[in-house]
Parts: sequence; C-alpha cells; structure tokens
Amino acid sequence: MSTDFMVVGNWKMNIPEEGVVEWCRSLGVWCEGRPRGLEVGIGAPYGELSFVSGEFGGREEVFVLGQDVSVWRGGSYTGEVSAKMLKLWGCDGVLVGHSERRHVLGEGDEQVYEKLRRVREEGMVSVLCVGETLEERERGEAYGRVSSQLHRAWGHDGGVGSDFLVVAYEPVWSIGTGRVPSEEDVREMIDHVETHLEVLMGEEEAGKVKILYGGSVNGGNAFDLGRVEGIDGFLVGGASLSFEKFLPILESVNSGGVGE
Ligand code: PEP
Repeated sequence: MSTDFMVVGNWKMNIPEEGVVEWCRSLGVWCEGRPRGLEVGIGAPYGELSFVSGEFGGREEVFVLGQDVSVWRGGSYTGEVSAKMLKLWGCDGVLVGHSERRHVLGEGDEQVYEKLRRVREEGMVSVLCVGETLEERERGEAYGRVSSQLHRAWGHDGGVGSDFLVVAYEPVWSIGTGRVPSEEDVREMIDHVETHLEVLMGEEEAGKVKILYGGSVNGGNAFDLGRVEGIDGFLVGGASLSFEKFLPILESVNSGGVGE
C-alpha cells in the first residue's frame, strides 16, 4: 500500500447535496492539480458504485468503497450484496464494521471477521472500523474495547494480510456529533492500535497498515488532526456530503506537514 495520506468520504445512505455526478466532477477537476501524496476514497451507496468507479477508473489516487458486504459469498440471501458483486461494480475496497453497523444494526465481531475474509478473497482492501462508546471511555475501557475488536477481527488464521487492511479508529461518541477527542487522546489511541497490530502481525507488517481517524472531521479541525503523530488519513461522514465541505479537508492535507 502506498504511503499517501488517505481521505475517505462515507456518504452512508445519502446522496451528496449537489448530486453524485456534480460531486464526482468536482473531485475530478480538483485531482487535476493535485499535489502528490494524497489518496481519496469514496464510500458510495450500492446504486452509485458503478457510476463512481466509471468516473475514476484509471485514476490511481481515487478509490471506490462499498459501505458493507455480506458474510456470504452468494446464494439465496435476499437483499444481501456479496464481495464479488462489489468487485464487479468497480470497488477497490469496503468499509467493514462501521459503528453504525455494529451499534445500530447489531453487527457482531464474528460477522466483522467473516466480512474481512470475503473482501480479501476478492482482492479488495477492508477499511476496518474500530472504536469505543462513550460509556466505555468513561469506564476506562476504551483501549480494551479497541484491542478486542482488532483481535477478534484478526482471528487465529493469520488475518487478512497487511496489504488488504486499513484500520479506522472512530470513537462512536464522536461520529456525527461534532465532539472530537483531544489530539492527545487520538495520538494515544493510534499508538495503541499500532502496538496491537504489531502483536498480531509483527512489526514490519503492522508498519504497512494505514491508521485513519474518523469522527466529526471537518474543514476547521482537519489541519490540526492531520498532524497528530501516526495518523495516516481520515474517514469523513457528514463533511463528505457536499464537495464544498469536503474540499477544505483535502486542501488542509495538501497544505503541508500532514502524515510526516
Ligand atoms: C463516519 O460515519 O464514519 C464519520 C466519521 O462520520 P462524521 O464525520 O459525520 O462524524
């Protein structure tokens, strides 16, 4: 995986304000003048994936992500979407274990484990989301929670390999709330994730895994957050829903010092 800073937008079950076509065209124009060192990911709803991947096919700095994937490879599972389908629609990766799937839709660590493997089987990258709830943080259980999510996702079969894994640390209480942990808290958790990955896969492999921060990132805080030691990128929800709001995040990354 490249060493570029990674900014991933997650549209969730929304269409950007200006529409998908306009949003993608704006990103395409912005990419023309893009300084090196930044990769942009787009987590689009299923119905938009083919269009988005068509728009950016061949552009190595833009990659397309599904927001979820089935634990099954195929068969009679009405409404499910397999990793093979995501691949056919042009996806390079998939968000796995997003907090809304875990906490709103009841997804457990066993499903996260299976999903990582389905994505890997199709040669795509998983952006594995981990993070503690507010109650867990207040009880002093944040580090334990994140370790256990990583450990259970990795499993006992050698994991999915560092080339197929990005980890996004997203404190649940920060997603969509405007509340952002202190830079010190983010740095300590990124450090914790790094250390835990080293235990799971060894220092060399762990060093290749990008660690993103997600939770209320916007144009006003991206510059400072991006300079927190160890951060390799952002996962952005609300502020990716209009290119006008997403742009300052991209620009802040471009303005120097990020990811160094
Ligand atoms: C997210 O949903 O992953 C997220 C980080 O959302 P927001 O940026 O809106 O907090």
